[in-house]
Amino acid sequence: MVDPLSQNRLGIQEQVPLAPMTTIGIGGPAKYFAAAHTREQLQALIAWARARDLAFFVLGGGSNLLFGDDGFNGLVIHMQLKGIDSVPLDDGRVRVTAAAGENWDAFTAYCVAKGWAGISCLSGIPGLVGAAPIQNIGAYGQEVAQTIFAVTALDLESGTIQRRNNADCEFAYRDSIFKRRLRGRAVVLSVTFDLKPGGTPQPTYPELVKRLDGQLDLATVRETVLAIRREKSMVADADDPNARSCGSFFTNPMIDAAAYAAFQERCPTDHPAWPMDGGRVKLSAAWLIERSGFHKGYVAGGAGLSQKHCLAVINRANAKASEILALKETIQQGVLTTFGIELEPEPLLLSEDPIWSKNC
Ligand SMILES: Cc1cc2nc3c(=O)[nH]c(=O)nc-3n(C[C@H](O)[C@H](O)[C@H](O)COP(=O)(O)OP(=O)(O)OC[C@H]3O[C@@H](n4cnc5c(N)ncnc54)[C@H](O)[C@@H]3O)c2cc1C
Repeated sequence: MVDPLSQNRLGIQEQVPLAPMTTIGIGGPAKYFAAAHTREQLQALIAWARARDLAFFVLGGGSNLLFGDDGFNGLVIHMQLKGIDSVPLDDGRVRVTAAAGENWDAFTAYCVAKGWAGISCLSGIPGLVGAAPIQNIGAYGQEVAQTIFAVTALDLESGTIQRRNNADCEFAYRDSIFKRRLRGRAVVLSVTFDLKPGGTPQPTYPELVKRLDGQLDLATVRETVLAIRREKSMVADADDPNARSCGSFFTNPMIDAAAYAAFQERCPTDHPAWPMDGGRVKLSAAWLIERSGFHKGYVAGGAGLSQKHCLAVINRANAKASEILALKETIQQGVLTTFGIELEPEPLLLSEDPIWSKNC
């Protein structure tokens, strides 16, 4: 039995549409929904859900997930913890801690304005700071794992607050311990970065290096990254139909040497491929998708591909989650048939997820 008094005190609303809280604009209602502005509120909301045997789900900026058409049958907690602190280190760097509810791009702008180098190439990535370590966000040759010192999270099993140093976060390409072993078991409260005051950015991404033309100050790097991202509809922009997406819908596949040899047999012509640790090779998901017949602007009912970027699945016209998932299957099958390569989705697809699907 839900206690209306405690529900009011915690600001819990009922039947709240989730679609407007996501960049792709899709999803049925949350049975219960509340914002957590403090750690105490977060813990009280979790206790409220547990006392009622309800599932709870932590939502950031909604830019890397797809809610199902039936929404979420539990409590959605919107992460709203705020605050940025910094301390100078003896080695000249600065240790900066940002709360999980800070906007990621605003945080990069803040660091650039302070002259702190380390995350300027990650400007313009939608979402909140707390989600940045989950999939080790990356763009234009930088990954957030390169500057994260530690991640502080509420462990949902023990109820304790734990700080994990970088080495214990198991960061990899679009991956971390929070996406694997601690998935659904830890709520990120804050992220601590070691940044370099007065540092010169060292961009490596060819398109960015070319556009910068030797102007290596943080503000120019940030503005140039933002300009490139806008051209590709890769910034959150409610007025841009090509940005109604979860960003890249598939990760670049990493395959071992044997699989790469098999791939080369099927595809002897020029194809993008990057050697990685342990003899593995990274292929371009965008290239594979396009060469399998899914061009930019591809239409599949209300769903489709961005006209700027064939890696971004978009909500073209009031798409249902089921249409997005159907297009995902079609693309995966097409790439598998053409190249023998399995594409992995990048965003969390709640209605297909082993942890969350039972609440969708
Ligand atoms: C236009 C566009 C461009 C993009 N470009 C890039 C890019 O260049 N590089 C890149 O890496 N990504 C990119 N993304 C993906 C996305 O922006 C990032 O993954 C971002 O970090 C997601 O943040 P969010 O706050 O929106 O997370 P959400 O989508 O709200 O959540 C994503 C997952 O993280 C979990 N989560 C969120 N906050 C917390 C928390 N505090 N504690 C525990 N779990 C939490 C959620 O439960 C969910 O499982 C792009 C997305 C869009 C729409």
